[in-house]
Amino acid sequence: MRCRLHLPDEAATLAFGARLARNLPAGLTFYLVGDLGAGKTTLVRGLLRALGVTGRVKSPTYTLVETYELPGFELYHFDLYRMHDPREWLDAGFRDVSGQAVSLIEWPDKAAGWLAAPDVIIRLSIADESREVECESASPVGARYLETSCKPC
Ligand code: ADP
Ligand code: MG
Repeated sequence: MRCRLHLPDEAATLAFGARLARNLPAGLTFYLVGDLGAGKTTLVRGLLRALGVTGRVKSPTYTLVETYELPGFELYHFDLYRMHDPREWLDAGFRDVSGQAVSLIEWPDKAAGWLAAPDVIIRLSIADESREVECESASPVGARYLETSCKPC
C-alpha cells in the first residue's frame, strides 16, 4: 500500500498528520524520512493535536525523545538526528519501549539495525516552497492502516 500527496503549505502538512491520527492502532512504528526542514516534526504535531494533545509539541532534537500518554496508548516521538552511534539507542534503553506504544521516528537511519521494523515509512521531500509526502506500508498491519487512513490519496 502506497500513497502520495502534494502538501502546498504547512497547514496541509498538519492536516495530513491529523488524517494519520484516524484509526491509528496501538503498536504502530513509523519511520519519518526526509531532509532537515522537510516537515517531519510538523506532521507529528498535526497528528498529536488530532489526538488531543493541547500543549506545545516540542521537537525532540536535543532530548532524542518526547513521550505522550494518550488515552489508548503511549506515543514516542523520536528524533535521532543528533545520535552519533547507534549504540546510544541501546544505552538510552529505547529498545525496551513497549510493543504496544506508537513510535514515530525521525532519522531512523541513525540507529539502523537496532530499531523495531517499520509498519509505515513516510518520506517527505522539499519542493520549492511546498512539500511532497509519500507513505508506504512495510507490514500487513501498516497496509491495513494506510488503506483506511490514507484515503483518498
Ligand atoms: P523537519 O522535522 O523535517 O526537520 P519541520 O517539521 O521542523 O521539519 O519543518 C520545517 C519547516 O517547514 C517549518 O517551518 C514548517 O512550517 C515548514 N513546512 C512544513 N510543511 C510545509 C509545507 N507543506 N509547505 C511549506 N512549508 C512547510
Ligand atoms: Mg524534526
